[in-house]
Amino acid sequence: MRATVHAEADSTTAWHIAVEGLEGVGIERVLYPRLGGIGLTEMAELSVPLWMGQRAKDPRNLLSGPDGKGRRFEWGYPGQLSFQMIALTRGATAGLYVATDDSLAYRKSFIMSGDQEGYGRIEIAHQLADPAKATRYEPTYAVKLGVVHGTWMHAAERYRAWGERQAWARNSRVARGTATPWLRETGVWVWNRGRASTEAVKKAHAADVRAIVYMNQRLWCVQTPSWKHENAERYAVRERDGKVRLETYMVFDPSPCAPMDIATKFWRDKYAGIADTVVQQYGIDGIYMDQAVLSLACWSSDHGHPMGGGHYWMDGFRALASDLRRRNGASLGLAGEGGGESWLPDLDAFLTLQVSQERYSDPSSGWDPLPMFQAVYHHHAITYGTYGSLTYPPYDELWPDSTRPANALTLLDPKYRRHFLMEQARMFVWGMQPTIANLRLSSSPSARGRSRTSYG
Ligand SMILES: [Zn+2]
Repeated sequence: MRATVHAEADSTTAWHIAVEGLEGVGIERVLYPRLGGIGLTEMAELSVPLWMGQRAKDPRNLLSGPDGKGRRFEWGYPGQLSFQMIALTRGATAGLYVATDDSLAYRKSFIMSGDQEGYGRIEIAHQLADPAKATRYEPTYAVKLGVVHGTWMHAAERYRAWGERQAWARNSRVARGTATPWLRETGVWVWNRGRASTEAVKKAHAADVRAIVYMNQRLWCVQTPSWKHENAERYAVRERDGKVRLETYMVFDPSPCAPMDIATKFWRDKYAGIADTVVQQYGIDGIYMDQAVLSLACWSSDHGHPMGGGHYWMDGFRALASDLRRRNGASLGLAGEGGGESWLPDLDAFLTLQVSQERYSDPSSGWDPLPMFQAVYHHHAITYGTYGSLTYPPYDELWPDSTRPANALTLLDPKYRRHFLMEQARMFVWGMQPTIANLRLSSSPSARGRSRTSYG
């Protein structure tokens, strides 16, 4: 094993590792470096670009865990982390900058843990491609460790200086000027649920209103007839033990679904075929590709990609996005869930719902939302989206009727209006396209004549 550390001009150090003699060992991941004994003082802030970004203002307490015995977080890349950096800043006192400079988006994770003594540990886990065949391992990239003063923004600026020079930024649809024009010029988004006729779509187009629809980018539910008829299992993502990975989301009527492997042409063709119907028959202007800005390791031995680590997921996504655009023309808009630097050349827009984090997560989680993705890639990505609404959430017709909420789409108590305004203000300040969820003009206060109940 050979480890080398280079000191660079800006106080950053570059850490490389090469591991030899792996024949027959089957090492699946290498942890390097492993930094222990990091003092988590009360001044410290931990910033993590999880999807959009989030910050723990009291990492010492957060990392000591609910029972005080320590806690461990592991964040995967690409996807879960929208870029390759975490920072532990301490204002005027020296903080820690941790990044990798991987321009090819190999699978890896950043691990942060704490103990009961108030010390933290940071590790980078590098996942090997085809570990059973590996004779040696040497990542093509370095881990960057450095001292940072100030706030998370100083760390983000340092990362941005590198990130903006990478191919995903140079080739981003915004930077190249190829972002779908109607999407780039969108003034406001309205996020509603329900049915609309193709006549309604035509009327919307006549009024210069565009529509995109939800199409999950990776799930195929295994109890559907098509799962068997089309032999979908053959192309589903495999776990480490070779079994099909299963995920269940619907709480009222649990139905297991399998993430499909985007590295397989079968799944890309299936998705593109459904998109053809949506775009060409229904006249829809684009697709919201749910779960698109996530990646998975697949352990199938016969999908034609390396087992485990590698960058085949991104290669597969790029092939799908190109095919969708080739089939449907330059006016097709593609949006994905979350931020992610690797997807900048392929997606027009990124849904960053953490702007409304308080609507869906435990307020005592210890994490605040932070516009880290926008701070690094505002010049390369359109971001939009919020759960922010003036009403209770809608009923979905796929739910059992018995679960229909009595308050669906009724107005929230006006005491929440300041929170709604804060969400709108965040979108403005964070450089997002403004969005409102569950808007019903017929139920708005002014439309009903209650003109003094002002929300905006
Ligand atoms: Zn696979």
